[in-house]
Amino acid sequence: MSPSDSTALTPVISNTWDAPQPWKLETYRNSGGYEALDKAWRFADGELTNLVKESGLRGRGGAGFPTGLKWSFLPAPDGGPRYLVVNADESEPGTCKDIPVLMANPHALIEGMAICLKAIGGHHGFVYLRGEVVHVYRRLMAAVREAYDAGLLGKGLGPNGDYDIDITVHAGAGAYICGEETALLDSLEGLRGQPRLKPPFPAVKGYLARPTVVNNVETIASVPGIIKNGADWFAGMGTERSKGHGFFSLSGHVKNPGQYEAPFGITMRELLEMAGGVREGHELKFWTPGGSSTAILGPEALDVPLGYEEVVGAGSMLATRALQVFDETTSVVRVVRAWTDFYQHESCGKCTPCREGTFWMRQVMHRLEAGKGLPTDIDMLNEIAGNIAGRSFCALGDASAVPIQSGIALFREEFEQGVHTPAWELFPYEKSALF
Ligand code: NAD
Ligand code: SF4
Repeated sequence: MSPSDSTALTPVISNTWDAPQPWKLETYRNSGGYEALDKAWRFADGELTNLVKESGLRGRGGAGFPTGLKWSFLPAPDGGPRYLVVNADESEPGTCKDIPVLMANPHALIEGMAICLKAIGGHHGFVYLRGEVVHVYRRLMAAVREAYDAGLLGKGLGPNGDYDIDITVHAGAGAYICGEETALLDSLEGLRGQPRLKPPFPAVKGYLARPTVVNNVETIASVPGIIKNGADWFAGMGTERSKGHGFFSLSGHVKNPGQYEAPFGITMRELLEMAGGVREGHELKFWTPGGSSTAILGPEALDVPLGYEEVVGAGSMLATRALQVFDETTSVVRVVRAWTDFYQHESCGKCTPCREGTFWMRQVMHRLEAGKGLPTDIDMLNEIAGNIAGRSFCALGDASAVPIQSGIALFREEFEQGVHTPAWELFPYEKSALF
């Protein structure tokens, strides 16, 4: 939960999180909820999309693709269905922002979905939720039911009573690859979830080969604020190219972990201060700007503005703003080994560089962690990672190479110690208490 005493925070989606039962329709409405949808019905075709374009909202799932532009890529209506699919398959290690939104403020998502469907001329939206989070499924289903009962979803909506909007919540079966948008669509269609070749992008051929907008939970939950307060209000926050507010999720060796909703461009140093700093008696060793698929950064990057382009300048992607904090008790070899295990386990096996490369990187990382590495292992890891990055079918393969490459670049000596000393002797588990 966001501490409300900090002026650097911009609680918009989280503005009701301290209220009793913020997930209820009544609480949401008391704070101005569904006023944006009321307003949206009066917009002419194309105007809603233009407003979202003008706001500068970019995809909050990680890639940062301009949202209004994505909506405008849908071909002209041909009388057939057009869909919205919300990607709620949050599973990137360290990433934990969408589930709190769904738990505390599901109506922001539902309202945003209704607005997006109106904007694209669609009538059916899906939420693809990761299957393990049964409590989130129940919370979201209850909110969808509330919205149907209140006449906010269903048949005959809008001032003319002629617009239908339905929302289906679909629970996946817990595969990380199903968060990749085209694998997600395959899974939603009842197929094995594996990435499709792009183009065609889902905007042109998506769910059931029909035009489909695929957006992240936080992206869609940001839309009602834009419609209600205007594009300039949203664009007034953030940096030149990364506009608006977003969730920054602090986890790990930090005093007050949690969600901090703040303008883009805030720095990790400012966020760390708000979160009470690194745990007592310890100091920062490294951190990630956006989960395990972003580069490991050291304390020297603390003052980099957290905007999409600015972070690239520091050698990483911003991605999901999953800011994981690791202090000096942490073995970087152990952390990278854990992430490599994850990527190997979640590789869908469709393409050779990722399927074989993650397997080999995992083998090597395990022996380095055990202090049984070979002197040639570090160069071999870099070579395998270099053969995966840019040669894989989807972003999962590229992501698996990042922690290895950035870990070695920043902490090569520690990897070299893996040739003779186990990580658990250098960094005892009980002191780190993370992995
Ligand atoms: P991408 O850059 O390939 O695409 C981003 C979006 O833009 C997609 O929706 C794509 O369809 C759309 N797009 C791009 N070019 C287009 C065009 N010419 N026409 C129409 N649409 C177009 O990125 P991606 O592979 O979808 O996503 C990778 C990101 O996902 C990574 O940055 C990572 O941070 C993030 N990620 C998030 C999680 C999580 O748990 N939230 C997990 C894994 C990865
Ligand atoms: Fe599957 Fe990995 Fe290839 Fe993606 S990169 S298609 S996850 S094998």
